[in-house]
Amino acid sequence: MLLPSFKPLPETLAKDPATWTPLGTSVTVRCRNALGPAEGAVVLVYTSDGENNMEHFIVACLGCHYLAWQTSQRRCLPQDAAAHLANAHAADCRAMSCGVPASPSDGEAAQMVRTRLWELRRHESYGVHHVSVADFDRLRVALQRSRDFINATMLQLATSEPHFVAAQDGYRGTRFLVQPHAPRA
Ligand SMILES: [Zn+2]
Repeated sequence: MLLPSFKPLPETLAKDPATWTPLGTSVTVRCRNALGPAEGAVVLVYTSDGENNMEHFIVACLGCHYLAWQTSQRRCLPQDAAAHLANAHAADCRAMSCGVPASPSDGEAAQMVRTRLWELRRHESYGVHHVSVADFDRLRVALQRSRDFINATMLQLATSEPHFVAAQDGYRGTRFLVQPHAPRA
């Protein structure tokens, strides 16, 4: 007997937002928003893998664009403050669950890394910016790439656009520097 043809679900639908962990992160809190377990969106609290400072937590809603990474004093979010913000957002948010965000292609992901580095580029008089893994914290839900991917992208940029990104050997592997904007001619 022939089995009925089976069409696999697209990858993003097959993943359950209630258990999903973006690649390159550790999720410490998940809560469902006010619409409830059947259709409400999930709010995540996560930290990026390999983060030295465990005070960098991010809150991201998978149903709307809510993203939080700072306290009201513009400091990094410790875990308890992040969990508090996640609960407060979940109590107010009415977004429907729309599954797990689609994963970008490698080309799109590399472009996201480049755009983030461009945002970190400073005026000449402020000098170089030393890139840390925390600089990409806010991007991790959309980026869905490992730290190795981010480093490989930066290494490539250091070759193709050395006036923008520089790579240096350090004690703990390669360090990356975003070069300042050149002075206006
Ligand atoms: Zn929301």
